[in-house]
Amino acid sequence: TEKPGRTILASSISKTYVQEITGKVESLRNIRPDGPLLVGFLANNDPAAEMYASWTQKTCESMGFRYELRRIEDRDFLEEAIIDANQDDSVDGIMIYFPVFGNAQDQYLQQVVSREKDVEGLNHVYYQNMYHNIRYLDDQKQLKSILPCTPLAVVKILEYLKVYNNLLPEGNRLYGKKCVVVNRSEIVGRPLAALLANDGADVFSVDINNIQKFTRGQGLKFTKHHVEDLGAYSEELLKECCKDADVIITGVPGEKYKFPTDYIKEGAICINFSSEKNFDESVKSKASLYVPSTGKVTISMLLRNMLRLVENKQKLQNR
Ligand code: NAD
Repeated sequence: TEKPGRTILASSISKTYVQEITGKVESLRNIRPDGPLLVGFLANNDPAAEMYASWTQKTCESMGFRYELRRIEDRDFLEEAIIDANQDDSVDGIMIYFPVFGNAQDQYLQQVVSREKDVEGLNHVYYQNMYHNIRYLDDQKQLKSILPCTPLAVVKILEYLKVYNNLLPEGNRLYGKKCVVVNRSEIVGRPLAALLANDGADVFSVDINNIQKFTRGQGLKFTKHHVEDLGAYSEELLKECCKDADVIITGVPGEKYKFPTDYIKEGAICINFSSEKNFDESVKSKASLYVPSTGKVTISMLLRNMLRLVENKQKLQNR
């Protein structure tokens, strides 16, 4: 039977950024004749990381950037290699393929990457600005802060799908929307819930332990989101939160997990950022728009972040 909605692929969404990105790369030819240089550090034997690296390389080169993969045989030397790249003026952006140690040392290594070269937007300063809804790095409001690229990709997808209503003032464009985010990792789920709530949505943030609500309150009375605990995770509570949810976003690792299709409101928008398919085929009988993966948009955001870093550096030098 004919499905009422549509599946939208990340590749179609990322295409809308090609012109903006390649245009900016061209305009930087005077200072970066061969294109900005992104360095990726691979210090594990993870085939998924390898795939992501080769994919990043292809995308970089197709848009006029240079990409260099640096393989680190002994992970205990990764920190030194990052410091070298931090100090090397020919390197514009740095990213690390995680997990490396698979524990808190990975968070430490991420913070070793210089803030000025952190294309993924994972530096503590960027996170704190994001959580506090601060958009600029300087008082003059000339240097835009960087956003973590996977949550940013989901925001850009929601803009493409017109969930953001551009008749509303900037910063309130999700006013009245209810979103569910199944994942509260510090890399994606929690920053994503905060970004959506800062833009005016009521967000139910779900992890294996509990469900929280991120909101700017009645009438958007707060300038940044607040968090309320709604209770321990249960199927009943999740179902209740989904009852009038306009958007459901999943990011659960592991191939076994499937989001229950019968919790989805008729005509809701469903987006999956997990590398596993968190929705089964039946999602298409309920969702108005379904985005099965987000990786290609994430890479576009990474390159967009890198251009912003180069621009910020140039603005600082011209002061
Ligand atoms: P993580 O393991 O750090 O976090 C997983 C989150 O999901 C946790 O909050 C956990 O509590 C929650 N969770 C797990 N099982 C659950 C369940 N049954 N019900 C409700 N919540 C549950 O993982 P991560 O780093 O956030 O990555 C998650 C997924 O997203 C992975 O598949 C990863 O590959 C993918 N990912 C994609 C991109 C992208 O650009 N598309 C970027 C980063 C990560």
